[in-house]
Amino acid sequence: MRETFPFVNLKAQYLAYQSELDAKISKVLSSSAFIMGEEVRLCEQSLAVFSGTRYAKTTSSGTTALLLALLALGIKPNDEVITSPFSFIAAAEMIAFIGAKPVFVDIDERTYHIDVHKIESAITPKTKAILPVSLFGMPCDMDSINSIASCYALPVIEDAAQSFGATYKQKRSCHLSTIGVTSFFPSKPLGCYGDGGAVFCDDEEIDHQITLLRHHGQSERYTHQIIGMNARLDSLQCAILNVKLQHFAEEIRLREEKARFYNENLQGVILPYIPKDRSSVYAQYSIRACNSSHSRQKIIESLHQKGVPIAVHYPLPLHLQECFAFLGYKKGDFPVSERVAEEIFSLPFSAFITQEEQIKVIESLNALMI
Ligand SMILES: *Cc1c(COP(=O)(O)O)cnc(C)c1O
Repeated sequence: MRETFPFVNLKAQYLAYQSELDAKISKVLSSSAFIMGEEVRLCEQSLAVFSGTRYAKTTSSGTTALLLALLALGIKPNDEVITSPFSFIAAAEMIAFIGAKPVFVDIDERTYHIDVHKIESAITPKTKAILPVSLFGMPCDMDSINSIASCYALPVIEDAAQSFGATYKQKRSCHLSTIGVTSFFPSKPLGCYGDGGAVFCDDEEIDHQITLLRHHGQSERYTHQIIGMNARLDSLQCAILNVKLQHFAEEIRLREEKARFYNENLQGVILPYIPKDRSSVYAQYSIRACNSSHSRQKIIESLHQKGVPIAVHYPLPLHLQECFAFLGYKKGDFPVSERVAEEIFSLPFSAFITQEEQIKVIESLNALMI
């Protein structure tokens, strides 16, 4: 059967803010200021205020934000960076892209985040940074990670592509370590209408490096201090973010309310685990149904037949991806990641999912759990 409602309802969000968005987009179009300028400056100011960091710089994507963060910290070929094998590929990919080596550490079975108890044994003299991923919208246990890092004088980059807006001990994700990186991919908790991202930090020198790197290493026009690239976010996307940021606090509240509705009504599944010191923005509402007599495949097929869209984040851990074969990992190296990758799936979710839609998901799924 055709899906009867979307996995993430971007259309409903657009319609809710349409007059503001259309007006802002027209304003940018008639200004002819498309690169940098006022909307970008405003956006970065608002992002810094929101996250509580001294600095925020927008970038062309979350992936380039990760790349700039690694480069700003001086990560070089043959350096090692510790990260999670159960994630979207971008962080491990950018580590490898600059010739450094992603060193994977297995995840914790409850949070799906890098297992903080296993990080220390992966540190070698070549380790130059730790890059935890605040997966599914909840910040990692950053105090534990920061304290291990500080013992070895290592910087920490939080991949907060999914967790912008979430909190850890009252502080915002992106402001929990040396550098925080996020993505504004359309379906992320705060999305623009194309690709986009941002880098957050409190350190003036790191911010200066990010500023140079994203704009051809340019200190003034046609004066190039370092080798950089073009990784700027354009004014239209910043203008769109400036509108959406006004509504973001309310969207976070709605996301929490809708997650609670799933939590309270789903039966027999492993729900998202949110420790008391944190909040989640539920970039994905991901569950496991390992007690069902049906396989994940069967559950997903059956839900699709009822018109309920389902996605799997992520079906194959990174250490088993073909592109990382050169790292020499094999099946069995990270058993928790491998098992979770086989069991997990994500339910339709956004600030705009309706209660009728959620009830349809819940009833369809609960019927498979008895
Ligand atoms: C989406 C995502 C990224 C990459 O962001 P893009 O804007 O798509 O480049 C990086 N890390 C994680 C965990 C993500 O979910």
